[in-house]
Amino acid sequence: MDRSILVIEDRPSARQQIHAILKSSRLFSRIDEADDGLKGFKLLLENPADIVLCDLEMPKLDGLKFLCLVNSRKELRDIPVIILTGNEDERTKIKGLEQGASDYLTKPFEPRELIARLNIHLKIKVLQDELKKSNELLRELSITDSLTRLYNRRYLMECLNREFSRSCRGKTSMSLLMADVDHFKEINDTYGHPQGDRVLTALAAELRSHLRSYDIAARFGGEEFAMVLPDTGPAEAAEIAERLRRAAGEMTFSGAPALSMTVSLGISAAPLQGIDTVEDLIREADRALYRAKREGRNRVCTFPEG
Ligand code: GH3
Ligand code: MG
Ligand code: MG
Ligand code: MG
Repeated sequence: MDRSILVIEDRPSARQQIHAILKSSRLFSRIDEADDGLKGFKLLLENPADIVLCDLEMPKLDGLKFLCLVNSRKELRDIPVIILTGNEDERTKIKGLEQGASDYLTKPFEPRELIARLNIHLKIKVLQDELKKSNELLRELSITDSLTRLYNRRYLMECLNREFSRSCRGKTSMSLLMADVDHFKEINDTYGHPQGDRVLTALAAELRSHLRSYDIAARFGGEEFAMVLPDTGPAEAAEIAERLRRAAGEMTFSGAPALSMTVSLGISAAPLQGIDTVEDLIREADRALYRAKREGRNRVCTFPEG
């Protein structure tokens, strides 16, 4: 049990009473306390709690304003807040629920009711957190290539569309690199498909290691990789591509000492004349790559030619 609760209540006697109930329940290893909404909010920011119990009527910053503050912060929004209300204020009770409170408790309350409600909301929170985690995992799986762990083509398209429209709007440059392993079929034929897989995985890691954190490296398909370089013009992209080409050529494989490979790369960029859509960008990078193959492989070609 490593759970924490924040109690926000202006009356010291009420706070003490709640503290005693919580302590005897053994539900929490940490009980934070504040006597108004602002102090409570600051405490929560410094040290998020699993659940909050908050009085509605307080001097300075009251419970409703506290709820507003909590809702304005993405990282706090999922913490359940149970509001404490007097018997008479039906309208504020409803307002509190509308402003994001998970539940309310009418004063004076039975200790057992407080514990029961806390238990319910802690359980819901656990389920919610699990759901969030598995959604994040699903999202990650849906955008990752399972062999190389680079992004997959679907995510690449998302990023390309985003970066392309950003470069159109802001007139900043972006570049697209396409890399393809030369004669990869021979590597498979000579060393076997599993070794071919290892080559692709190692190459993916090598390419990634030469890029900046905000560059996107993806497996475009088979033995072909695509890299989106934001804020990068064609000249700088050509330098990076040259570095990647050299690095790939210098890779060695402990399981197959004689194995070496080369890659060919094609580059296109935006904004450039003739590049009006993401499709243009991909097509021209692909054409540049094809030219690199035709001109003898193990080289970098850029759009426009020359
Ligand atoms: P080029 O220099 O013209 O690119 O020649 P290449 O042999 O690399 O090109 P080709 O398109 O003829 O062959 C690509 C090969 O890549 C064929 C395919 O079996 C292999 N390949 C595609 N995906 C994978 C994979 O996931 N693992 C392995 N081991 N091989 C793959
Ligand atoms: Mg009060
Ligand atoms: Mg190839
Ligand atoms: Mg290919």
